Formats: sequence, C-alpha cells, structure tokens
Amino acid sequence: MIPLRENIATMAGYVPGYQPPDIASWIKLNTNENPYPPSPKVREAILAELGNDGASLRAYPSASSQTLREIAGKLYGFDPSWVIMANGSDEVLNNLIRAFASEGEEIAFVHPSYSYYATLAEVQGAKVRTFGLSDDLWITGLPERYSGKLFFLTTPNSPLGFAFSIKYIERLAERCDGMLVVDEAYADFSDENALDLVRTYENVIVTRTLSKSYSLAGMRLGLAIARPEVIAALDKIRDHYNLDRLAQAACGAALLDQDYFAECCRKIVETREWFTGELKMLGYDVIPSSGNFVFASPPDGDGKRVYDGLYERKILVRYFTDPLLCQGLRISIGTRAEMEKTLLVLREIGQEGL
Ligand SMILES: *Cc1c(COP(=O)(O)O)cnc(C)c1O
Repeated sequence: MIPLRENIATMAGYVPGYQPPDIASWIKLNTNENPYPPSPKVREAILAELGNDGASLRAYPSASSQTLREIAGKLYGFDPSWVIMANGSDEVLNNLIRAFASEGEEIAFVHPSYSYYATLAEVQGAKVRTFGLSDDLWITGLPERYSGKLFFLTTPNSPLGFAFSIKYIERLAERCDGMLVVDEAYADFSDENALDLVRTYENVIVTRTLSKSYSLAGMRLGLAIARPEVIAALDKIRDHYNLDRLAQAACGAALLDQDYFAECCRKIVETREWFTGELKMLGYDVIPSSGNFVFASPPDGDGKRVYDGLYERKILVRYFTDPLLCQGLRISIGTRAEMEKTLLVLREIGQEGL
C-alpha cells in the first residue's frame, strides 16, 4: 500500500474541458478560449526573449515578476505591492486556500460556478460548503454572517454568464468574516468589476486571468489584487519561479498592448450580443451574458441531444451532467464565422428534433 494521505487517495480530481488532439479540425467552443490570436507584440516579445540561440533560458527568471507587478499595478490603479502574478489564476486560487484554510476549516462558493475550488479544497483537507442560486440569481441560504475562511465568488458567473452587481458583492463582503475572493476571470467582457472594493474592504481579493481576454490560455498567466499583507502571504507560498521567462515576456507585451486587447474584447462582446439574439429567435432560452460565452437551453430542454448533434459536426461546446445545468449548454463565443456555422447546425438539429 502506498501511504497516500486519505483525502488524496479518495478524491476524484478535476476534469478540465476536453482538448481534442486534432484541434484544427474542430470549431472549439468548450473552454472559453479566445478565438483571436494574442497581440502580435506577444510573439515579438517571446522571440526577443529567446534571442538567436535561446541562451537567456540558461538563467532563472525574475522570481517576483516585479516588472509585471508594476505594469499591472499601473493598469488597474494599484501600487505594485498590491499585485501578485501567477502561473494561471488557478495557481493563485490554490495558494489562497493554502494561505487561509487549514485542514478541517471551511471554504464556500456558489453552485453552479467554478468547481475547481472544491478540488483545491479537497487537496488541502478543507471543508466545502456550497450555496445555491434562486431563479432571479440571488445567492440562497447565506447566513447573515458567513464565518468560513474563504468565499469564492465567480462573477461574471461561469457557466451561467450573468454578473452580480457591485452593490451585491459589497453586501457579501460585509457579511463575510473571512476573505471574499472575487474570481473575475471574465470581467474584461463585462461593464463592471470589483477592483474598487479591494481598496475599501480589507477582506476582498480580486483574481484575473490572461487566459480568456488576452488569448493566452496556453501561456498560463494570471494575477491577484489584494492588500499588501495578503500579497506578502501569497509570496511565501508560491513557487519562487512561478512565471518562466517566456511567460513574463508574453505577459508584459500583452498587458501593454491595450488597443489590441480592447478591440478583441469589443469584437467578442459584439458577436455575443448578436449570437444571443439569433439563439432567442430559434426559441432558445439564453441568460444575458457578461462573459465570452453564453448559457443557452434549447426549447425541448435537452442539452445532451444538442451537444451530440453539434459534436457529430465537429463543433465542441460544454455540456454539464449536473441536474441544474443539463437542460442547456455553455457555448464559448468564437469568431463571427464560427458562430454563423454553429447557428446553421443548430437550425438543422432543431428540425431533426421535430
Ligand atoms: C478559466 C477560469 C479560471 C482559470 O484561469 P487560468 O488563468 O487559465 O488558470 C479561473 N476561474 C474561472 C471562473 C475561469 O473560468
């Protein structure tokens, strides 16, 4: 018998969205990746970092990614001491649990939202509590004071796409004895964000990723903004060289090319709004989205049937077996051409169902 910790031996492990090996032959709308390439400056920066012979890779990267903290701090209006860079925002979510929740202590999140929080808590041996959503998308069952160590709030929510209002998030921060982690993986596609609350509420942390809005899922880049005391704690826990040299070069170039970034986000939001309207005309129920995806349910409420129909025609979307979600699908927003093709297939599938 291999002497594993019992929680590791018995846990299931997280299952990420499917990445098909023949990725180019699919319209891939299942993991909320960006359909556009990253800024051309990213490629240039990576090549410059590599140089002619790649010799720069002999040396360790900057351990603190200090330059990036300065760039991100300036972009969001915070002193660099309020910023930490991460190897994907997943890294910082993991380190938040390690920093705040001891074995047996509780963390919470809304269901449905990002289920990876539960996996991270299981590894740590922390307890998990979930709160549901009412039909009008309020959190249900929340006590007047929530005393768990961490509350993870995904907003805009994935997979549903709606965003909580800033007022509502503020109320939640006031009701949490522990830390409120606002996971803003999709905030760049939304009209609002919770950064101001970090300044006002000592217990608010905002996490961001470059995976979606900056088209850099393959580089693994994220960050968190919080009080310097929180950042200092996270700095003790992280891998000391958590961002490699190429990732640091890519990150700086991406964050500095705000014109390119804004144009990509604008196109995606425009396509999202058009696609939502088209789906509604097909009789789909669509939750208004503030992300780069929509959660849409076909008229017959059979998400699996539509998923299978799309899959047969090499269009990959996300289907969840969860009883709260199985009536619909989460569809990432691709290019206008990809979404036109998707609509064409959805029309065919609809007719087959009749
Ligand atoms: C994609 C996503 C993440 C992970 O981001 P990475 O930076 O790629 O690790 C975190 N939270 C939510 C809600 C996400 O959708």
